[in-house]
Amino acid sequence: MESIYNFTEDMLKEYWLSKGEKPFRASQIIEWLYRHQITSFDEITNMKKSLIEELKQDFTLDRLDCVANQKSKDGTRKFLFQLEDGNFIESVLMHQEYGYSVCVTSEVGCNMDCQFCASGMKKKLRNLEVKEMVLQILMVAKLSKVRVSHVVIMGIGEPFDNYENVISFLKLINHPLGLEIGARHITVSTCGLVPKILEYANFDLQVNLAISLHAPNNKIRNQLMPINKAYPIEQLLDAIAKYIEKTNRRVTIEYILLKGINDSIACADELATVLHGLNVYVNLIPYNEVAGKPYERSTKEDMIAFFDWLKKRRINVQLRKEQGSDIDAACGQLRSKHMKS
Ligand code: SAH
Repeated sequence: MESIYNFTEDMLKEYWLSKGEKPFRASQIIEWLYRHQITSFDEITNMKKSLIEELKQDFTLDRLDCVANQKSKDGTRKFLFQLEDGNFIESVLMHQEYGYSVCVTSEVGCNMDCQFCASGMKKKLRNLEVKEMVLQILMVAKLSKVRVSHVVIMGIGEPFDNYENVISFLKLINHPLGLEIGARHITVSTCGLVPKILEYANFDLQVNLAISLHAPNNKIRNQLMPINKAYPIEQLLDAIAKYIEKTNRRVTIEYILLKGINDSIACADELATVLHGLNVYVNLIPYNEVAGKPYERSTKEDMIAFFDWLKKRRINVQLRKEQGSDIDAACGQLRSKHMKS
């Protein structure tokens, strides 16, 4: 038996064709799973009994086991899920002015080894399956009794290191008969896997792309993010330019401000220069300090000065407000204490 949540619409179409049925049954299934969020195949009312019996024989309708959840003062909620193989993952629900947003985990652990990040302290054990990503959203929505309108793939893991499953996941959550999360309401964040950025430029959904840049040059970026040794900043910026040219979409540049490392006015100026002419939006992120890591959050004055300098250089920029830091749910803080290593 296979989990039906691992099945994309195309796979469901093939399934029905192999049963001698019409492919439109695939979208019917998507509607039942993601819109009506059935817990038993018996709830399906527009299929013959015999088809429902076949579904029961071929597929499981799984859930994720929620083993803990915490609520922050600002309403942000963090969920700890246990997977079938015993591993743990976390998801975060944030309440924004525009709706509810879920921060999804894409891998068990992460191999990118960004020096400031808590997630990379646990090496990657495996990719998440499609079902383990879609079920994060279904479970969070169900447990919180909210409609999720936005999704960011910024939990633990590097989504472009689990590319195919992430693409299938995006198609499923965007499906107009299912969760119907608008492509423009979905953001995939990458540390800069250049070949995948170029491949993603050909993806037909208008999903947002965010790049974790965090430095204006190779010298600083090499220290912070080992991926920069494989794909130096020139290659990354070139891939971003190609992506924008191909898709016509604005790219978000994430930049964590680290005291004394990348937060000087000289860095702001260099950043403005390398981003000049690119259709990007810079998100300045206050660093969430991680026990055991030497990095510190920049002072408020330095963050504001950095922000002002970028503004002066006519870069689109915002200073991100943080949520959920009191429950270790803020950006980059996710690190399951229960995760196997
Ligand atoms: N691997 C992907 C997505 C996960 S991280 C990526 O690198 O983009 C999501 C964002 O949180 C990234 O921009 C990451 O650099 C940032 N981040 C990691 N640790 C952080 C911390 N301690 N404080 C603030 N942001 C952090």
